[in-house]
Amino acid sequence: MEVRNCKGCGRLFNYLQGPHLCPGCMAELEDKFQQVKEFLRENPKAPLNVIAETNEVSVKQIKQWVREERLTFTEESQITLECEACGGKVLTGRFCDKCRANLQNEFSGAIKRPTGSVATKKNTSTKDRMRFLDN
Ligand SMILES: [Zn+2]
Ligand SMILES: [Zn+2]
Repeated sequence: MEVRNCKGCGRLFNYLQGPHLCPGCMAELEDKFQQVKEFLRENPKAPLNVIAETNEVSVKQIKQWVREERLTFTEESQITLECEACGGKVLTGRFCDKCRANLQNEFSGAIKRPTGSVATKKNTSTKDRMRFLDN
């Protein structure tokens, strides 16, 4: 176990994994996350800076949540993140739907079985879905 300074409050804490935050700041961040999630549900069209200001969260942190696929923007939202592969519009995660499908194909080709993640389900053909049900 390592001891590190918390990025949030600066206190020393026993670091295990994930962000460099002490348990107290982690819990606070989790509260913020729920708050932002709720806010986005009620205000799906709110711009990023408004979400950040209203909820007192950094824009960077919100983007981070989206990259982690914890937050999802809807089609009607004006907020866009760039796909890390092609620079296209991304609503959640690191890649756009198109690149994600490409990656998924490569991925399932390599391991043969579909992984059953949200992305695969969305792109599964009827035939595959029936096979999935048979299982
Ligand atoms: Zn802290
Ligand atoms: Zn892309």
